[in-house]
Amino acid sequence: MHTLALLLILGALSSPAQTTAFTGARVLDSAGRRWTDNAVIVVRDGRVEAIGPASRVRVPRDAQVKSLAGQYIIPGLVAAHVHVSAVQGTRPPAYTMENTLRQLGVYARYGITTVWSLGGEQDPAFKAREMQNTPTLDRARIYLAGDVITGKTPDEARQMVAKVAALKPDVIKIRVDDNLGANPKMQPEVYRAVIDEAHKRGLRVAAHIFYLDDAKELLRAGADMIAHSVRDKEIDDEFVALMRKRNVPYCPTLTREVSAFVYESTPAFFADPLFLREADRDVVARLQEPQRQEAMRKAVSAQRYKAGLEIAKRNLKRASNAGLLIAMGTDSGAFADRFQGYFEHLEMEMMAESGLSPVQVLRASTIDAGLAMRVPGAGTLTKGTWADFVALERDPLADVRNTRSILGVWIAGNPVAHAR
Ligand SMILES: [Zn+2]
Repeated sequence: MHTLALLLILGALSSPAQTTAFTGARVLDSAGRRWTDNAVIVVRDGRVEAIGPASRVRVPRDAQVKSLAGQYIIPGLVAAHVHVSAVQGTRPPAYTMENTLRQLGVYARYGITTVWSLGGEQDPAFKAREMQNTPTLDRARIYLAGDVITGKTPDEARQMVAKVAALKPDVIKIRVDDNLGANPKMQPEVYRAVIDEAHKRGLRVAAHIFYLDDAKELLRAGADMIAHSVRDKEIDDEFVALMRKRNVPYCPTLTREVSAFVYESTPAFFADPLFLREADRDVVARLQEPQRQEAMRKAVSAQRYKAGLEIAKRNLKRASNAGLLIAMGTDSGAFADRFQGYFEHLEMEMMAESGLSPVQVLRASTIDAGLAMRVPGAGTLTKGTWADFVALERDPLADVRNTRSILGVWIAGNPVAHAR
């Protein structure tokens, strides 16, 4: 009783209504094309109260002032396809609150302040989502799908949608893929039932796909998000038209393919300090074992996914040229070798390699990913949004790899610790 009272008092003392004014920064305009120099961001109770040039935005008298002079401020990055999972390095998997918050901390330290976890989330992830609308937040925000819908018959699938929908997920997830012929694919009558049942319950459906023909059939059936690249052939006008009709987002997840073959040798990024800052050392050591690397080199699937990546990159450029809504996503976290946070930066670099401009990559990784997720305010910094942002040393519009020059990350205006 006494302890509880004391904790309540301490809690109240440590979180008074607080106003912070970030000054001297360069902030991106809402189109993500130009910098406003010497800008002020006023944050009150975790949200942006005002943002703009110092000539227009006054620093409130009661504000704590924090100078970000000369730094490039972008909205917190948004990843529209990740997995906050049971994985914890080489230790046995455990879907615990501790492990969930650990992963959301890793994303945050890399500047990924909002993630859409697309399938397999358990109770701790749902709890983390319920707890995140608070001005004291200092880890990434999570939105989720819950269990991926399976089922051999339309009835089974509908029952499963009902069960998952009862937990109030943000989206329903299905997989329509045979994993290069290794297992049976979800049948059209089953996924049509899933989509119908989800829509009846006001939920959208994100579809894992590999083949162009499946993607088209899913779009005709009403699927609301294409959660991976088309990887068997180049996308065509029919696909583009189907996507455009309902502005369905396209999520490339190029790094998912990378993880399928890159550990056939030791990847260059294993020497990157930004990678090593968070990467699990046991996992990194395991991926360098010669027999493991040799097994991956010899795996037929690895070589097929490597070829698939080249098609995926061309398709991303085509999708972008056609004006489709592109949402950055990686599939990071599904396995220990898909490194959360770092893979998002690798993904953005690969999107640029595919031919997208830095403006296009940044939009796909902020405002457009937020639009894809339909999370109001995600990936933007305007009056009323949560003050989630990243301060960079170098200009990401000059080179998108400069999103790695992180000087600081703020979530709801709170600094995210970088040290481990
Ligand atoms: Zn996934």
